Amino acid sequence: MKIIIIGAGIAGLASGIYAQKNGIESIIYEKNTYVGGNLVYPNNKKENLSIVPWMACGKENIELFQVWNEFIPQDNFFIPPFFFKYQDENNTFTFWQDKNKTKEEWLSKSPNDTKQIHSFFSTISDLEDYVENANIPWDLMNPFLTTKKQLKQRKINKIISKYENITVEEYFSSFSDKSIKNAFLSIFNHNESIITLLLTIANYLSGKLVQPKKGINDILEQLKNIYISMGGKIIFQETLEEIKWANPNSCEKVIFKSGKYDYADEYILAIDPYFVFNKVLKGKVGDRKFYLRYENKEAYPVYSGIHFSYYVDFLKLYKKNNNYQEGIYIYSCEPIKIGKNYYSQIILHIIPSLNEVYCTFKQDIKDYEYWESLYQTDFLYNKKLKEICDEVKSIIENIFPEWKKIQLKEVITPIDYFKLTNTYKGSIYSFHITPQGKPIYHNGNINMTNVYIASQWMNSPGGIDQAFLSGKFIIQRIIESYRKGKKL
Ligand SMILES: Cc1cc2nc3c(=O)[nH]c(=O)nc-3n(C[C@H](O)[C@H](O)[C@H](O)COP(=O)(O)OP(=O)(O)OC[C@H]3O[C@@H](n4cnc5c(N)ncnc54)[C@H](O)[C@@H]3O)c2cc1C
Repeated sequence: MKIIIIGAGIAGLASGIYAQKNGIESIIYEKNTYVGGNLVYPNNKKENLSIVPWMACGKENIELFQVWNEFIPQDNFFIPPFFFKYQDENNTFTFWQDKNKTKEEWLSKSPNDTKQIHSFFSTISDLEDYVENANIPWDLMNPFLTTKKQLKQRKINKIISKYENITVEEYFSSFSDKSIKNAFLSIFNHNESIITLLLTIANYLSGKLVQPKKGINDILEQLKNIYISMGGKIIFQETLEEIKWANPNSCEKVIFKSGKYDYADEYILAIDPYFVFNKVLKGKVGDRKFYLRYENKEAYPVYSGIHFSYYVDFLKLYKKNNNYQEGIYIYSCEPIKIGKNYYSQIILHIIPSLNEVYCTFKQDIKDYEYWESLYQTDFLYNKKLKEICDEVKSIIENIFPEWKKIQLKEVITPIDYFKLTNTYKGSIYSFHITPQGKPIYHNGNINMTNVYIASQWMNSPGGIDQAFLSGKFIIQRIIESYRKGKKL
């Protein structure tokens, strides 16, 4: 059997690795010159700048650990001692990995919120046993295993159902301490379900949430090398344009922008589903349920971002006394308007070991449309971008005057995200979970006999782990279909 995979993001790489692992010939076609999709700063690879993302694979007894550990051993990751440090004009606090330390700090700073704080940490404790399903996708499990798993997580599922119906804004409205609320609202969105936040924190406190020690570039390089060493092939700078239909529900070959084409038995489109449905399949095949989500933007919000990365020579600055701990720092700042939104907080990821500092401001669909309309005129777009770059730089320089002149290395706008990876409205995650828009679980099957989709969009709210699992799961489903009698 031969599989063609389109896209060398996390989902495409996982599809390729699992195909090769199962003795299936595979080839990945990628439009860019590098792997990793929207996790990569395209202009700065040689500078070794790198996003240091969160991944939920840090605990030995969970399935996701075993899945990642087979390829990327655990010593590539670390648990940061704090989730973030927050500072505004009235308050500073740290969200430590040590739960009791954080709780004590909150209780002493905000005695009026005692009840809320106890309830917050008690819910988190209950959620700490949450385990992501990573070995076998739900749809391939036998009824016995499904029931066993559901029973095990029955209590947790009840909590999830309850908190899916409450937004972040609603949840924190009962807290009198505005700093706690502001800290979380700068990371999460006011209208998304609080469950995403609670599960993230529970994963962090239970030791599941980790970060790659050398940044994501290092992990991507390892995944690429693993795939190639298993016999996989990656062809860069080939953009899938369309498919040639063999009949109304199967693909004969994929055709690239360059005019090149290729044949396989099975095709995995590990790229954005909106792009697949509209551009590649030209509306002939779709998924009505999935599609309705794009039309209900309130219930299924998506977010892009504007991302700034800076070079700071920490080695030189702190020759004597390097007092910056790697991690996420949230500072309040003068309101800055980016796109259509105002921000009163800046989230800085400081990475002294890589001489890097980066920040991402979340941008919603209205912001995307703002950038899109500006982009019609190069001059206006570039002028606005330069203004914002200068403003963000001066915010950082005000917070850290001792850094002197920081050097902007890369800025990526929502339009860039769209242009670089073809993602819907430049999104960097899948649909966020809201009380009106429950999580999506898509098995990648789009009613075609030999074409499937895989990507972070297969499970809300997306992210690296979900992208990886989508690639793994789709290979398991293809193998199962042959086991059940599908013929080459
Ligand atoms: C700044 C930032 C920070 C993030 N932090 C985290 C984090 O902490 N934790 C986390 O879990 N997630 C994080 N994410 C999200 C994470 O990046 C995504 O979940 C993940 O990378 C999605 O992978 P994917 O394979 O589904 O899609 P993509 O990365 O979009 O991959 C799709 C690939 O297909 C290629 N492609 C597209 N169209 C075509 C075509 N027509 N022909 C050929 N190739 C094509 C693209 O170039 C790309 O390489 C972050 C994202 C950003 C931008």
